[in-house]
Amino acid sequence: MLEIKDLRVSFHTYSGEVQAVRGVDLTVPDDDITAIVGESGCGKSMTAQTVMRLHDMSITEIKSGEILLDGKDLLRLTEKEMQQIRGKEVGMIFQDPMTSLNPTMTVGAQITEVLLQHAPKDARGKSTLSKAQAMEQAVSLLREVKLPDPERRVRQYPHEFSGGQRQRIMIAIAMACHPKLLIADEPTTALDVTVQAQILELMRNLQTTHKASIIIITHDLGVVANFAKHVSVMYGGMIVESGTTLQIFQDPQHPYTHSLLRAIPRKGMDKAQELTVIEGTPPDLVKPPQGCPFADRCECAMRVCKDHLPPVYTHQAGHTCRCWLMDPDCPPELRNKERG
Ligand code: SF4
Repeated sequence: MLEIKDLRVSFHTYSGEVQAVRGVDLTVPDDDITAIVGESGCGKSMTAQTVMRLHDMSITEIKSGEILLDGKDLLRLTEKEMQQIRGKEVGMIFQDPMTSLNPTMTVGAQITEVLLQHAPKDARGKSTLSKAQAMEQAVSLLREVKLPDPERRVRQYPHEFSGGQRQRIMIAIAMACHPKLLIADEPTTALDVTVQAQILELMRNLQTTHKASIIIITHDLGVVANFAKHVSVMYGGMIVESGTTLQIFQDPQHPYTHSLLRAIPRKGMDKAQELTVIEGTPPDLVKPPQGCPFADRCECAMRVCKDHLPPVYTHQAGHTCRCWLMDPDCPPELRNKERG
């Protein structure tokens, strides 16, 4: 459904050109949930925003690549054509619903605005959906996202809702026009743990009912374990490992994925046992390293890692990894060091 090919995106700052996305390839299948995981600044949100073309174009530069949605390259569309895609074919949910919702409009007005904008038009260009019909749909959308008493609450303002309820409203807005693809950028980060689980459950139910695909962007591998079917791990502006969730959790190959997994608390873990911290800092993407972006923090780094960017190796069908340890010529003892 969505295919990203060799995407490279930079933005310009006073310190120089930040090469935020450095050759991302990603395929999102139909009717499925894909997670992009990585720490802040790894390029995951920039990749998602580029699909929606939401960045400030005065400082952002799309250097190369294609983003094919059902074969149509979103990077070649005009802004007017993109307005028809946003909301209708691709919906987006952000981390903080309070900054995404308009505080001066009732939630009903915000949902109906999207519905009316994308409703079919008659010969005179007028929406075929009346305001009353749109409001009825807004109420049923709020009901669908399990907001209690939707007939009354549709007339309320964002500040009258809790954080979890506001995220439900954002989901209702994003799903209003039944998009094929929903991009959720850290949708649960601002919520407490029990609400997080409810929001993920709601998104999964909607994905099944609406037969949509979801891309979830998160820094937390724990969030994706029971949610996504595919996982791509990003580091230093590139995808370093990609596979099914089972492959990534049961048979991780990249040292960075290993470190991320060791940083998640596990059931039955000894209370005295400390979680692993990944020492060091991510690379400066103003001057990205010429070799592996993880080399400065990797316990398995070899000489080749500093000087040469590893290619993408296939470990198993659908499971790829960008690391020199995967090279057939790499001595097995070095490869086993990470697994051990
Ligand atoms: Fe570590 Fe080298 Fe693999 Fe990079 S390529 S993750 S530095 S072993």
